[in-house]
Amino acid sequence: MASVAIVGVSKRFGDTAVLAPTDLVIEDGEFVVIVGPSGCGKSTLLRLIAGLETPTSGRILIDGRDVTDAAPADRGLAMVFQSYALYPHLSVAENIGFPLKVAKRPKAEIRARVAEVAASLDLTALLGRRPAALSGGQRQRVSIARAIVRQPDVLLLDEPLSNLDAELRGRMRHEFARLHGSLGATMIYVTHDQLEAMTLANRIVVMNAGVIEQVGSPLELYDDPATLHVARAIGSPG
Ligand code: ADP
Ligand code: MG
Repeated sequence: MASVAIVGVSKRFGDTAVLAPTDLVIEDGEFVVIVGPSGCGKSTLLRLIAGLETPTSGRILIDGRDVTDAAPADRGLAMVFQSYALYPHLSVAENIGFPLKVAKRPKAEIRARVAEVAASLDLTALLGRRPAALSGGQRQRVSIARAIVRQPDVLLLDEPLSNLDAELRGRMRHEFARLHGSLGATMIYVTHDQLEAMTLANRIVVMNAGVIEQVGSPLELYDDPATLHVARAIGSPG
């Protein structure tokens, strides 16, 4: 587990300000859900934390350590993408074990850890398959397995369930709650889904047009939304 501090972080792409200077502190072990309309900067914020984008201004601290200039692999975090981003030519076992292989862990250790993570996500029977031979839900579970194989302190998830059908989303929602408990990682989770936000979050961050409009517990935002937009995003009567 680790805290994440975003201090005056902003992002421009050319002339376009995508994220206004933003401050946000996420506590050790917290499950924070980020909601907001398409294009408001949710993925950009996650990518900045991950180190996949460079901030235009500001600093990012993980567990008190300034990682603004650190490579993604040196930040103690992992990211799950909406598109799964699996390697099509690798088996499920090779996909899951890939981060350990890159980290040059011994083969026996990789095998044992892949088996353990696969078992925890009900993937043991699928370890020899290629991604093309999996359902959407199975692919997403593989991408989650790959993300947690190195036991990250911080797990970033960008609309991880948006490509799945409603029933599977419901099951995976429970899976994420369980994962948060067992992994003990700080989780930062972007979604469009009110139910996911309300049931998973310790705190919800509501974004709109590159600005954080409100941060609070699901109940606080529901009972006392700061703006009409927050009320709509949370589904509160306003
Ligand atoms: P969200 O995830 O909330 O839908 P994004 O963070 O993906 O929003 O995008 C926020 C804004 O930044 C959008 O207007 C998008 O078009 C723009 N944007 C994102 N990435 C880039 C990029 N690499 N170059 C230029 N504009 C970008
Ligand atoms: Mg996005």
